[in-house]
Amino acid sequence: MSDSGILYVVATPIGNLEDISLRALRILREADIIAAEDTRVTRKLLSHYDIHTPITSCHEHTNANKLDDIIEKMLQNQTVALVSDAGLPGISDPGQRLIRKAIDSAIPVIPVPGPNAALSGLIVSGLPTERFVFLGFPPRTKTDRNQFFEEMANQSLTIILYESPRRLAQTLEDIAKHLGNIAIAVARELTKVHEEVFRGTVWEALDHYASHPPRGEITIVARAEAIRRDAPQQSMGWEEKLRSLIESGMRPVDAARMVSKEYGLPKKTVYDFHVRNTALK
Ligand code: SAM
Repeated sequence: MSDSGILYVVATPIGNLEDISLRALRILREADIIAAEDTRVTRKLLSHYDIHTPITSCHEHTNANKLDDIIEKMLQNQTVALVSDAGLPGISDPGQRLIRKAIDSAIPVIPVPGPNAALSGLIVSGLPTERFVFLGFPPRTKTDRNQFFEEMANQSLTIILYESPRRLAQTLEDIAKHLGNIAIAVARELTKVHEEVFRGTVWEALDHYASHPPRGEITIVARAEAIRRDAPQQSMGWEEKLRSLIESGMRPVDAARMVSKEYGLPKKTVYDFHVRNTALK
């Protein structure tokens, strides 16, 4: 058995301060030091629970020497509790580097489970939970995004993403473009006052958020269905694509927007084509 201290990886609330386990509170209270992503955020939690353990910062830009100092403390038998601003450290949050170094130094690493936005969103989404993938935040650049969404398009599974409210519409559009008008749940502000889960199709979600601009923190859960890839959509001309989208129930204005993006055409050209076509019928 090692003589070293322990690294506890401690889950903290994703909104509601009551979402913290009795064990997490005890460990935060008894640890020699708390290593926190942002000490100001963690201080609020600690002051709420009247915990006075010393805090040090440990974030993605923390240099290697600082990490080594924390490791050294544990090698000298101190106990460290690692926390991020919310939820599980290491899940779209810093923490992995310290955890890896602790493992490499043969320091015991012990999880203290608790809240996580991805799984909380999944369990209330109403979408299948038996096979799912968590992909974190979608990349920002166009090429990376295309590849990212394309990779999801070949499997039947539930996809969980994190997204900012500012980028929600773009991400929903990209999901529609690559995966079709699939079933989706947008879980917003979970465990907080303005908690909301929107369930519907991607285009319904786009409609909803066009008139209710989203705020706060967002987890997207989407159900990808591989079968849709069998459709010969890729070789379609834009007129045919527009027709098929409208026939599948999408609003003409949304279909025109999607086709204009995909084929690099002015939206007006595409929409006018639809209007002319309808008038001829
Ligand atoms: N480590 C955290 C966890 O375990 O869930 C995730 C940290 S990541 C930096 C923050 C992102 O998680 C937010 O931008 C949002 O996409 C999602 N998120 C966090 N809290 C949320 C909440 N209360 N409701 C919905 N999504 C949330």
